[in-house]
Amino acid sequence: MHEISLIKSILKTIEHEMEKCGAKKLNSLTLRIGTLTAVEPEAMQFAFNSSIEKTAMEGATLCIIETKLSGRCRECGTEFALSEFDSPCPICAGLDIKRLTGTELDIISMDVD
Ligand SMILES: [Zn+2]
Repeated sequence: MHEISLIKSILKTIEHEMEKCGAKKLNSLTLRIGTLTAVEPEAMQFAFNSSIEKTAMEGATLCIIETKLSGRCRECGTEFALSEFDSPCPICAGLDIKRLTGTELDIISMDVD
């Protein structure tokens, strides 16, 4: 369960942002999580709910957008969905692939009062 430590650091960022803009209450939070982060959405949800108990963020909802692995071939520029780590390019069979999505863990938006 690395979700607990992840959500704790995310919430620290949120707290900081809320302080900066003088927000009193967090209504909802949207995260984008890539498949390669090995984060379980359900575990993340659980970690989130237990971490915000008895804080200013209690009652907020968490929305998770999962992104699949995708990459771009450095040989021919084709962008495609990767099924696994070392999938070759479907066009030229090149193996020099730049990963585009799948490893991110971003805060997309937060709704505060
Ligand atoms: Zn290619």
